[in-house]
Amino acid sequence: MKSVKAYAALSAEKPLEPWQIDRREPGPEDVEIEILFSGVCHSDIHTARNEWGGTVYPAVPGHEIVGKVTRIGEAVSKFKIGDTVGVGCFVDSCRHCNNCNDDLEQYCENGHTQTYNSPSQDKKTITLGGYSSHIVVTEHFVLHVSDKLPLANVAPLLCAGITTYSPLKHWNVKKGDKLAVVGLGGLGHMAVKLASSMGAEVTVLSRSKDKEKDAERLGAKHFKITSDAETMNSLASTFDFIIDTVSAQHDYNQYLALLKTSGVMVILGAPPQPSEVSAFPLILGRRSLVGSLVGGIKETQEMLDYCAEHNISSDIELIKMSQINEAYERTLAGDVHYRFVIDMSTLS
Ligand code: NAP
Ligand code: ZN
Ligand code: ZN
Repeated sequence: MKSVKAYAALSAEKPLEPWQIDRREPGPEDVEIEILFSGVCHSDIHTARNEWGGTVYPAVPGHEIVGKVTRIGEAVSKFKIGDTVGVGCFVDSCRHCNNCNDDLEQYCENGHTQTYNSPSQDKKTITLGGYSSHIVVTEHFVLHVSDKLPLANVAPLLCAGITTYSPLKHWNVKKGDKLAVVGLGGLGHMAVKLASSMGAEVTVLSRSKDKEKDAERLGAKHFKITSDAETMNSLASTFDFIIDTVSAQHDYNQYLALLKTSGVMVILGAPPQPSEVSAFPLILGRRSLVGSLVGGIKETQEMLDYCAEHNISSDIELIKMSQINEAYERTLAGDVHYRFVIDMSTLS
């Protein structure tokens, strides 16, 4: 056991604060990583504040991790000390069910172990995430990171990148498809970059007029304000795909109506409160409303390699660890351009 520095939420109401946590000694298949950068996902906020229920305190969020290998177990074959590596949203799974065998560990039939606030596979401990100086992860769940891109900008690929890449691949988004991204935050801006790199004609649907220039710079062809009823009416039956990344409760029906016949709306955002869905926009256009959770390890590596090849990374604002509570407030206010990333060398 090694005691390391971290930042933790001690209750739903309190700001995060410095904390000491234990990391296990690396077992035969484990990789110990010194964390260099940790992205700030909206899921971190949902969890720290117990918005989804079930948060175990002290909770250490963070699942967009980039770092260097510091120690390895004797059976580790994929990594050596000094390698640049990444860890995303989960750190273990049963590794023998149908989904694990199909490289879909995120849908493990026996329950995958998320990087934070999640029972380990032996059910003895609750995981603690990337707002910490080190993490120990079994090698199957560790990713190779190229040194081609700036590492701070790569960190958000480990959640925001793979979460948007996976549905684009699964639903075979291709050149010429008309695709809308709802919400231009961490996930949204990666969806714009990735979908446009795959040739889709991207429209951003946003509440925030001041994001228009950015949307175009990120690769969107069009930008529309969702509060304007006339604009929304004019977009009826326009899109082949809609990627919904909104973090708060909202009306899915108004977006479903914007899909063409047989169009697909993918829910990525995870608002704590449920929303009502009317049968009619689905029935009237044979439309699909679907969801998607991050991506498996094989696909995450594929996404990292794709991003290195196409020079794609996240637009970030680098913060000190002590600025985390302010960053949460700014994220909630929609004032993030487009991901906060913590420089973990500032953890003290
Ligand atoms: P984020 O950076 O805060 O972005 C969310 C965006 O949604 C905001 O920038 C804003 O965009 C829009 N929005 C926020 N509140 C809204 C409201 N009340 N009404 C309408 N639009 C609103 O968050 P994120 O890190 O991208 O995460 C987004 C959601 O995805 C979270 O719920 C998170 O937990 C979830 N998530 C899911 C997965 C998965 O595997 N499915 C993975 C990671 C995260 P505009 O200003 O442009 O309107
Ligand atoms: Zn996330
Ligand atoms: Zn499994």
